[in-house]
Amino acid sequence: MKTISHWIGGKPVEGTSDRFGPVYNPATGAREKQIAFATVDEVDAAVAAARAAFESWGQSSLAKRTAILFKFRELLDAHRDEIAELITAEHGKVHSDALGEVARGMEIVELACGISEKLKGELSTQVSTRVDVASIRQPLGVVAGITPFNFPAMVPMWMFPLAIATGNTFVLKPSEKDPSASFRLAELLAEAGLPDGVFNIVQGDKVAVDRLLEHPDVAAVSFVGSTPIAKYIQLKAVEHDKRVQALGGAKNHMLVLPDADLDFAADQAINAAYGSAGERCMAVSVVVAVGDTGDELVGRIAERAKSLRIGPGDDPASEMGPLITREHRDKVASYVASAADQGAEVVVDGTGYSVQGHEDGFFIGVSLLDRVPVTADAYRDEIFGPVLCVVRAETYDAAVELINASRWGNGTAIFTRDGGAARRFQLEVQAGMVGVNVPIPVPVGYHSFGGWKNSLFGDLHVYGNDGIAFYTQGKVITTRWPDPADGGINLGFPSNS
Ligand code: NAD
Repeated sequence: MKTISHWIGGKPVEGTSDRFGPVYNPATGAREKQIAFATVDEVDAAVAAARAAFESWGQSSLAKRTAILFKFRELLDAHRDEIAELITAEHGKVHSDALGEVARGMEIVELACGISEKLKGELSTQVSTRVDVASIRQPLGVVAGITPFNFPAMVPMWMFPLAIATGNTFVLKPSEKDPSASFRLAELLAEAGLPDGVFNIVQGDKVAVDRLLEHPDVAAVSFVGSTPIAKYIQLKAVEHDKRVQALGGAKNHMLVLPDADLDFAADQAINAAYGSAGERCMAVSVVVAVGDTGDELVGRIAERAKSLRIGPGDDPASEMGPLITREHRDKVASYVASAADQGAEVVVDGTGYSVQGHEDGFFIGVSLLDRVPVTADAYRDEIFGPVLCVVRAETYDAAVELINASRWGNGTAIFTRDGGAARRFQLEVQAGMVGVNVPIPVPVGYHSFGGWKNSLFGDLHVYGNDGIAFYTQGKVITTRWPDPADGGINLGFPSNS
């Protein structure tokens, strides 16, 4: 069985641990590959390689860094199909969706190609007589990224392009469930000319994560994953004096006002709820139907839901692939069953669905639950599967109150033709990313991504200007080139004159 290696100091390094993690093909259910979970020594070797590389990379010219990033962008473009195939083989999402993931990751590489413009700094001349002040930003050193299974190429690219463009060196701990895409990115970075040790990967689990969080040479940690682990990462990183941004889970609500175009809203609800089998942190998992829209909207969503083509991600006819593991598939199914017991109306039941010829694959159909009580587990938990809950609200105010009562605040959207209502919603809703007639408002690369409440611990969002701020520290330099006339003793606090 193929074992995916670590990537340390510019080359693959076989794992030596006797603890292994399975890597499945979710469409067949077959365990096709594995990783050897990194030992503490292997993590230390990766951090040591990154630390050694920082000596020169941190001092390298912007011209050198951006030349490599431009080359990397070209290689990504040339290999996007191949990377998408790796994603589909281990994650299960359909090829077109995997291609979209690569494209969205590439946006951050493109932002990083322009890092020279972003790192120009600020200069004020003559703030006092013959005194100038410059503000510059410098790299932190070795930084680490810990990423989830659902975007095995994009989420690492939310992090490392800006981290290395700003002069840091990087250690990635990808999800143990689909590690091949990021390994391929490491090979392409090397081919683009990135010096050895600037980008490293340790394949692993909690042992590797804990060592990265405790390691004295790791200056900062970016994390994306579920809320309980995000919270753990933040607390432990702070305890070990590290800068941290930890993005967590979500339960994203889509509010539909009675004046909305219901066909458009139904299409968008389907795309955002069932795309990537609901395994997106920006998936719409709750539709809040306001006023008398509910019956009509549910009918239109149900009609569309029944016609979705579910099958292996490498079949161009498939619109939705399988879930990541058998256990996750069964857990998702259990929410549909419990919702029925807890008072919801099951309009479409996708549990028990199987694909001919792929009976052992981790497939599930799509489910639509109506009139879901807010006390039901299906409403309270992040299901992370193709289950869409519909909740009814009498008024706009009641709908916003419901959304704002959520413990998460990642993304949300409003569907309406009323500009005034949309404007109120933008200002009143408690979430980090808001869509107006856009169901999954994932910001473009040059705006930052991040949620509120339990969807993000830390204050800086990922990528965009926040990403650059996260991976750099500010320095302010006050300079005087004395004139022979200057000098003399003066113990007073310096004032500007
Ligand atoms: P996860 O939290 O299980 O795993 C994320 C990472 O943490 C992985 O690398 C994993 O190996 C590591 N990890 C898991 N358990 C750990 C532990 N006990 N100690 C230390 N490290 C541990 O998340 P997942 O299942 O891979 O991904 C799905 C979750 O990620 C969902 O909750 C989803 O909403 C969230 N997500 C959030 C965003 C966002 O931007 N907010 C984006 C993508 C995914």
